[in-house]
Amino acid sequence: MQIATILSYLESIAPLAYQENYDNAGLLTGSGDWECSGVLTTLDTTEAVVQEAISRGVNLIVAHHPIIFSGLKKINGSNYIERAVIAAIKHDIAIYAIHTNLDNVMAEGVNGRMAALLGLVNSRPLLPKGNNLRKLFCFVPAAHLEPVRNAIFAAGAGQIGGYSECSFTAEGTGTFKGGEGSQPFVGRPGIRHEEREVRVETVLPAHLSRRVVEAMVAAHPYEEVAYDLVNMANAHPGVGSGLIGELREPMEEILFLERIREVFGTPVIRHTRLTGRPVKKCALCGGAGSFLISNALAERADFYITSDVKYHEFFDANDRLVIADIGHFESEQFTIDLLFEVLREKFLNFAVLKSDTKTNPVNYY
Ligand SMILES: [Zn+2]
Repeated sequence: MQIATILSYLESIAPLAYQENYDNAGLLTGSGDWECSGVLTTLDTTEAVVQEAISRGVNLIVAHHPIIFSGLKKINGSNYIERAVIAAIKHDIAIYAIHTNLDNVMAEGVNGRMAALLGLVNSRPLLPKGNNLRKLFCFVPAAHLEPVRNAIFAAGAGQIGGYSECSFTAEGTGTFKGGEGSQPFVGRPGIRHEEREVRVETVLPAHLSRRVVEAMVAAHPYEEVAYDLVNMANAHPGVGSGLIGELREPMEEILFLERIREVFGTPVIRHTRLTGRPVKKCALCGGAGSFLISNALAERADFYITSDVKYHEFFDANDRLVIADIGHFESEQFTIDLLFEVLREKFLNFAVLKSDTKTNPVNYY
């Protein structure tokens, strides 16, 4: 199996288009054309992880954090990034990063896994990602509705939450007059033709626009296909940063802290003053999530679980919620399992391994 096959499956779950604009998710070293000898899942690609891949006989590392993040100007091994990249290139190891795109696909991603482990229900993104949905309107002669609509759905349009193949149709009359050299499907050039047509409308993720339009045009009988592709103001309900959900039953703050410690195995939880109110609504964001404190407050969350919170940012809690910093590695540690399970379920009888290398650079004393 080619590496590209594995990557395109991962991107069907966490499309690269969903990464943040500062990010560098995708294939960082190696080639999609290579035959894959096995996959190693990890949070970080350190030199030790590359060595682990070599010794365990796999040539694809699927990591959460991109080892090449803000560019490399020299590759002489003077820091851990350069050493990892050099080792990977020397030994033909492909490194693939699935980072904020995996954070942003809420249910299937990093935050969905954290929420499930904490027992949160009714989850939705804390900061929905806008500008990623489009509406397609196309006009089809009535007899050709089914093949065109099927092609549109097969290309990825028509998904709303847990429902697929969503569309709306309305019948009407289309007119057209072919110009010189045209070969109209019905009617004659130079004469205005009226045709019973169906207007099909459906929604699609913006990053699939080209694929859906090409599929529609290929299945459509007309020489020139009339369609409108429109940006939608609606946010994609399942795509965005962070997550907010609810506990089934309200819980005392101290007991909830205990649950967090059990789930994430964090030796030290840095948190703001307890409010004395029970916990029901809980926001969270795996990794560095200070940028969502204001969203957690606006959503009236009782708790906000994240990491890498700075001293002054803790003041923002203002007794309106409890901010709990559980550590960057601890918050994202289950991403290794998540990637492992996703790949193993899809690619049965293929070497998918979980890294045994402990990459957390932070120690607690
Ligand atoms: Zn992270």
